[in-house]
Amino acid sequence: MSRYVGASCRLCRREAIKLFLKGERCYTEKCGMEKRDYPPGVHVATREKFLEYGLRLREKQKVRKIYGLSEKQFKRFFEMAERKKGIIGTNFLILLERRLDNMVYRMGFATSRKEARQLIIHRHITVNNKTVNIPSYLVKEGDEISVAHRDLPSVKNALESVVRRGVPSWLEVDKENMKGIVKLLPSREDITMPIKEQLIVEYYSR
Ligand code: SF4
Repeated sequence: MSRYVGASCRLCRREAIKLFLKGERCYTEKCGMEKRDYPPGVHVATREKFLEYGLRLREKQKVRKIYGLSEKQFKRFFEMAERKKGIIGTNFLILLERRLDNMVYRMGFATSRKEARQLIIHRHITVNNKTVNIPSYLVKEGDEISVAHRDLPSVKNALESVVRRGVPSWLEVDKENMKGIVKLLPSREDITMPIKEQLIVEYYSR
């Protein structure tokens, strides 16, 4: 299945949780979840109760939407996590966090991961002074991520508004010079979104 290009707020309403897909709007009363906290669709006013398979499927879909990946990309990351030593679910979340589009978003150079992907694809982002235009590029500890073109209004706006969500402690950002360093890779405890990764592991093990 390809990447979803419909209305982002429907995805949050479907998953019954704010996925923060629309940048600044997500923090205002214009947020779709604030206005209509019920599932999308004309006749659906109440939320379904899911059985085991449904719960696993919904958790997988929720995390896939948070990071904005297609089914194929998401599964590829899961398979990478399986090949690593350690707990698969934790490996998986850390791999997702290491994606360059996520790092650009987390550092505050973009208001959403979607916007971060655009910056990367349009060659506005460098890693260790080299242009990288692959959103799935895996960042390592100690890498320096910079915005190559500092006059971009979208980056200036994003940096002004990052105060609201904050920059994680494992990253260090120099807003003036539009660059940041990955001080440490995140641990499971650093990923504070309400995710039950074990359900995703169970989904793929069925
Ligand atoms: Fe989700 Fe609200 Fe952001 Fe829309 S505005 S994407 S409903 S968090």
